[in-house]
Amino acid sequence: MSDVVLRTGALVKDFGKGAARVRAVDEVDLAVRTGETVAVMGPSGCGKSTLLHLIGGMVRPTAGEIELAGRRADTMSERGLARLRRDRLGFVFQAFHLMPELTAVENVEVPALLAGRSPRVARALAVDLLKRVGLTDRAGHRPSALSGGQRQRVAIARALSNQPLVVLADEPTGNLDSAATADVLRLFGALHQAGQTLVVVTHDARVAASADRVLTMRDGALVDQTVLAGAGA
Ligand code: ADP
Ligand code: MG
Repeated sequence: MSDVVLRTGALVKDFGKGAARVRAVDEVDLAVRTGETVAVMGPSGCGKSTLLHLIGGMVRPTAGEIELAGRRADTMSERGLARLRRDRLGFVFQAFHLMPELTAVENVEVPALLAGRSPRVARALAVDLLKRVGLTDRAGHRPSALSGGQRQRVAIARALSNQPLVVLADEPTGNLDSAATADVLRLFGALHQAGQTLVVVTHDARVAASADRVLTMRDGALVDQTVLAGAGA
């Protein structure tokens, strides 16, 4: 498949050694096409976050392959991986991880600046992204002055500011109430419409229901895949 943007082959991650060894990710084969939204579900401790960290180049695999945009990430140098994260990937976390001393617009422009955009271009991108997430009127606020849902929308805008190939989100609604979850869902829906590729780890059936495919993990392995009819509609 030529439009596969992200692929893993027999991906394995072990933590610890000997009797204490835990196989967090167990021979995962995954192919995500450009523009797809893929949800990953499964019980706590089944390896969802580790899988995202492997894909995101934050953790090195024990075995297996990772390919992003046709390039092998598992064999890349640390520098190459750092560049890949900076230029090609966007990350959204459950706990937002915004910089507390920066305003919303400053938080959003950081990845654009790191990816080499000029200050002027980065600011214009950040302003536009805050508009897309409905927070134009909060651009000058620090995270402490924002609600949880607003913080996560800033974090999503930030994840987009380097114009990533793939956005990786780890339980992005895990800290949000129902109304804020609905806001984030609408936002992911709009990103999907715009062609953004998304991999979302979630416990939330509503988030999963908005995906093109739902992958279920158990004990590190992918055990089930559901293609949702009408996804993306
Ligand atoms: P999930 O995100 O599905 O809750 P994780 O990927 O966080 O699961 O964890 C999968 C397994 O790997 C668990 O048994 C967890 O304890 C273990 N694990 C995760 N990260 C580490 C680590 N840095 N060191 C040791 N064990 C880890
Ligand atoms: Mg996790």
